[in-house]
Amino acid sequence: MIALKQFANFSGIAAAVRRAVVSLVPPPPMLPSEWAERNLQIPAGNAIPGPINFDNAPYQRGMLNAIKEAGVRRVSYMTGAQLGKTTVQQCATGYFIDHEPRSQIFAQPTQGDVQTFLETKLRPMIDANKRLAGKLAKQRGREGVNNSRMISYIGGWLMFCWSGSPKTARGRSAPVVHQDEIDGYEPSPEGDFSELLWQRAASFGDMALRTESSTPTIKGASRIETAFNEGDQRRYFVPCPHCGFAQYLKWSQVVWSGKDEEGTEQLPETALYHCEGCGTGWNDGERIAAIRNAEKLGHGWKAAKPFRGHASFHAPEMLSTFRRLRDIAQSYLDKMALNDLQSFVNVSLAETYEETGESMNPHALMDRREQYAAPVPAGALVLTAGVDMQPDRLEVELVGWGVGDESWSIDYATLWGDPDAGDVWDELEEYLQGAWQHETGVSMPISAACVDTGGTGGNTQSAYGWLRGKTGRRIFGTKGVPGWGKPIVTAPQRKQSGKTARKIDLFLVGADEAKLTVMRRLAVDKPGPGYCHFPESRDAEYFHQLTAEKLLTRYVKGFPVREWHKTRPRNEALDCRALALAALKIANPSMRRAADRLAKVVDGRQAAESFHAEPLPPADNDNSPPENPQEAQTPTAAQTGPILKTKRTLKSRKKRGTFATNW
Ligand SMILES: [Zn+2]
Repeated sequence: MIALKQFANFSGIAAAVRRAVVSLVPPPPMLPSEWAERNLQIPAGNAIPGPINFDNAPYQRGMLNAIKEAGVRRVSYMTGAQLGKTTVQQCATGYFIDHEPRSQIFAQPTQGDVQTFLETKLRPMIDANKRLAGKLAKQRGREGVNNSRMISYIGGWLMFCWSGSPKTARGRSAPVVHQDEIDGYEPSPEGDFSELLWQRAASFGDMALRTESSTPTIKGASRIETAFNEGDQRRYFVPCPHCGFAQYLKWSQVVWSGKDEEGTEQLPETALYHCEGCGTGWNDGERIAAIRNAEKLGHGWKAAKPFRGHASFHAPEMLSTFRRLRDIAQSYLDKMALNDLQSFVNVSLAETYEETGESMNPHALMDRREQYAAPVPAGALVLTAGVDMQPDRLEVELVGWGVGDESWSIDYATLWGDPDAGDVWDELEEYLQGAWQHETGVSMPISAACVDTGGTGGNTQSAYGWLRGKTGRRIFGTKGVPGWGKPIVTAPQRKQSGKTARKIDLFLVGADEAKLTVMRRLAVDKPGPGYCHFPESRDAEYFHQLTAEKLLTRYVKGFPVREWHKTRPRNEALDCRALALAALKIANPSMRRAADRLAKVVDGRQAAESFHAEPLPPADNDNSPPENPQEAQTPTAAQTGPILKTKRTLKSRKKRGTFATNW
């Protein structure tokens, strides 16, 4: 009683004390999903604006709550597009701003991705949530920072960085690191960006937490798949509405009329999910209800491995309560039609894609050699040559191309001689001026050729000298450039051959992608688009060279790098094929027009004249690859009579040494 008398203004003092200690008291225990549902609004413009309600996508609850599991240090989300991984990471960011303030770093692959994230995700979320906005420094305000690189708040700051610029992360460390789309992070000479960020966070001990998300990419080169496998591998188990059997959703169980049956009518609207237990097909209503009820019935996220501080989640598109199975089936059919199964597997199934064309068996290719009815079989409409330069010879493959880039290897020649001495170039000139007998009886000239100038023998200047002025004749000098995602050919760079000489146009060939295209086509196993035909006379060495490289993944400072590796010393045939393909891409002939012209010849209207596969463009030096393959090109005057190659001349060439003899 005495105490109460002494402190007459008891309630006032109590309030003051409460105010003073509020920042010392740990926040009330609250699951991050509860915090988000109580405090976060989804901004207008989204599918379901208004307060966050994880009942719409119940799997997100477990994904978010993992950030506060006892002992958690790392959370990995391998999900398809639109499965809410960004929402989950955003909620986690908000939680560490508002409920349990800690400094955070949010990383994206590029600066553009940071901007997009800020403008379309984070700022709208902050604007829609007064409580959150009230904790942040004002934009252009005096207290604290709030710009496109950093936002400060009571108890911490949030910094943005991107892998393309490791310096954006230099000198900063925060206990919480969020990383978005980690499969898109570029390798850096300073070491792996993702690991560098995390190593610094690790100094915060038990406070440190790393969240990372991505749609996966190529098998063996996917960071998120590696992370998923290192974690406890959680999948969302859904009970069957018919038999109760709990299963995680798999693409193999999605069935519609015509699925994976070639030549059958495809009815994606009949798609159902077939239970692995009883085989009953679930419609979308049943599937979505089953997903929504999973946790109430004791299912939901289940780990395949024991939890050791690293939770990892896999969520494919079938788990989405916003997507209909018929739409997923349609997207599969669309991607298949574009021969782009990889994006479906990555983006919808959230699985890595396994390269099928990464290495080929030479014997399988040899076994399908065939007897051609003529030096150039009927289906080949255009001829291109690929020329590989070596210190003592030039190697040439002549390839006939048809509709859908179906190809026929027509000839493979080795022209002996030192490129610096000159004679071998005369031989090449003669070779490229030759014409070849088409099955219809007409004589077909070589439409275009690519000559690699970047050999190891230091003959580059000799090649430049010979190539000078030949672009207009569709003899293109090329230089191979490494790297993925590059076009097979890019517009020419102008290079000077000697100080006083005229410049030459040098086309850049995306060597890695060109080889991948060649390998993927070698894997096509029945005649039609992409298929590669080989003549009966071709020797074994050619096939060994053509398949001499294998796509492997090497780790550079922890970052996976996909590279072609030679499995045997000689690979010229593969280089020649890639160059012949590059020549086709630069010349970019219209196959339809080539076929029309050939038909006219066969009709006898031009029977007396020699056949010209495709007119040459005007001889200008800015001959960049045409954008549109259907774009008509101005025909020019007919060439002077080419030398007709018959089987006899082929034989005589052979005696001079083609494949495999003479190395
Ligand atoms: Zn069932």
